[in-house]
Amino acid sequence: MFRILPEVRTLIAVRIVAVTTLLVVVLIVQFTTDQLLPINYLYLVAGLTYALTIGYLVVGSLVPDRTLNLSVQIAGDLFVETLLVYFTGGLDSPFSFLYLVSIITASMLLYRRGGLLTASACVILYAGLGDLLYYGIIPVPEQGLFSMTPFSSFRLYLNMATNFAGFYATALLTSFVSEKLRETSIELDANRRNLAQLKVLNDNVIASIPSGLLTVAPTGVISFANPSACEILACPAVELVGRPLADLALFPEEDWERLRDAMLTRRVIRGETENYLRGGEPVTIGYAVTPLNTLDGQPAGISIIFQDLTDVKRLEDQLRLKDRMAAVGELSAGIAHEIRNPLAAIAGSVQVLKKSERLTPQEQRLMSIILKESDRLNKSIQDFLQFVRPSERRALEFDVVASLSETLDLLSNSLELGAEHAIERSLDPPKFVIVGDPDQIRQVFWNIARNAIQAMPLGGFLRVTTATEEDGIRIVFSDSGRGMADHEQRALFQPFRTNFPTGTGLGMAISFRIVQEHGGRIDVDSAPDRGTAIAVTLPRVPTTRT
Ligand code: ADP
Ligand code: MG
Repeated sequence: MFRILPEVRTLIAVRIVAVTTLLVVVLIVQFTTDQLLPINYLYLVAGLTYALTIGYLVVGSLVPDRTLNLSVQIAGDLFVETLLVYFTGGLDSPFSFLYLVSIITASMLLYRRGGLLTASACVILYAGLGDLLYYGIIPVPEQGLFSMTPFSSFRLYLNMATNFAGFYATALLTSFVSEKLRETSIELDANRRNLAQLKVLNDNVIASIPSGLLTVAPTGVISFANPSACEILACPAVELVGRPLADLALFPEEDWERLRDAMLTRRVIRGETENYLRGGEPVTIGYAVTPLNTLDGQPAGISIIFQDLTDVKRLEDQLRLKDRMAAVGELSAGIAHEIRNPLAAIAGSVQVLKKSERLTPQEQRLMSIILKESDRLNKSIQDFLQFVRPSERRALEFDVVASLSETLDLLSNSLELGAEHAIERSLDPPKFVIVGDPDQIRQVFWNIARNAIQAMPLGGFLRVTTATEEDGIRIVFSDSGRGMADHEQRALFQPFRTNFPTGTGLGMAISFRIVQEHGGRIDVDSAPDRGTAIAVTLPRVPTTRT
């Protein structure tokens, strides 16, 4: 069993309602007027319609074919209509218009083919009935309401011809309109589907691009933000949308001018904001602002596409530094070497001269200065050479905690440490073996610890702690020294940037490179006058090599 198709069901329902209404009206008239109407044929027609309806329902639930169901019903209707026309005066019957109703129904539901077939069926039935009555082959029914006038053959054919023309014209016209309607609705459906697909695609693209996208209404209020925008700005969409763009401080003041120009002149502008504050941390954001237009070319605000360039910037800076170092390195390494040899000769000669007994104490003092300073110069050159031409890194298994302890012992006994300095150690795993170059790692510890002492010229404490980290070790050097401002922190790893009186500005640059080559990292936490904490994290086994 099938469910009866909706159109088939509707047609059945409409017919039942129409016939029942007609019957009820006639019955009311019948019982309210004195005159008894000859309406027996109406009962017949109504009864027949009800009986056929049962047939339609059976066919409808047995056969799913739409055309067949509709055709059966229309054929049944034509049959009933012909009966009605016959009983109400044949070609004179006022009910011949019912044929038109069937033709319209067929044209609408079965289109041109159905419409023309139905019109032809009507022609045959109508002409047949007319001819049969005209030639007296079937009797004229007995009834009093509609009298049948005898037709001349001319009138017979004229009547038929006009009716036939009407039938076909109705079929053609109605089917034309309903076919157009069908095409339009198919087209509309396809367009709607395309539009939906396009929207899904659009939404997907916008949601999945890694760039942030904001649209801003002409009033300057943010009207849309994609997920990447929310992520980059660290702000949920509900807080972004509806907020004035100016609130966001995404653009520096001077860029607002350009932005306004872009809105007016419809140009695309690009730029970079170096210090957009995301959760208190400055990030670099690169953006392109494009004016938006409505379909008819009216300005409709702007769209802003932007990216978080912080990492790119950092990488860029590192690369630039590497480049600069490579270029300068070769040349200056050569010069440094050239200085070192005469320097050794000078220092050696002065040492010999210093032993002379004929020197005054003043001369002795000057010679000491020469020796001290040439020692310092030699040390700087050594650092520098190490920086531009690092020694080959060895890969040995060694205990970093032991290396750290030795380095701190060395520092404790060095001249730089005064009585007012204290070094505290809390080395928790007493032993931690990593793979790397012990000399280089010791140099890192030395550089960092020595900086801490140098940052506390008036004394203070250096606390060194270790802790294991997910397959690695973290060593933190915290001092109570003078700390660093933001710009100093940013320059910390850059070579030749020094604020210490005897510094070369190479210690941290060398340390950074060594730690990086060991697959680790250095984190800095510092504030002026509050001290500095430098954390070195080293993996058990280096995985990256840069
Ligand atoms: P140098 O020690 O030769 O100056 P570094 O690379 O070791 O070079 O250090 C660079 C600069 O970083 C120092 O001159 C100093 O200004 C700053 N700095 C390093 N460590 C600290 C620290 N613990 N406290 C304060 N400033 C520091
Ligand atoms: Mg240093």
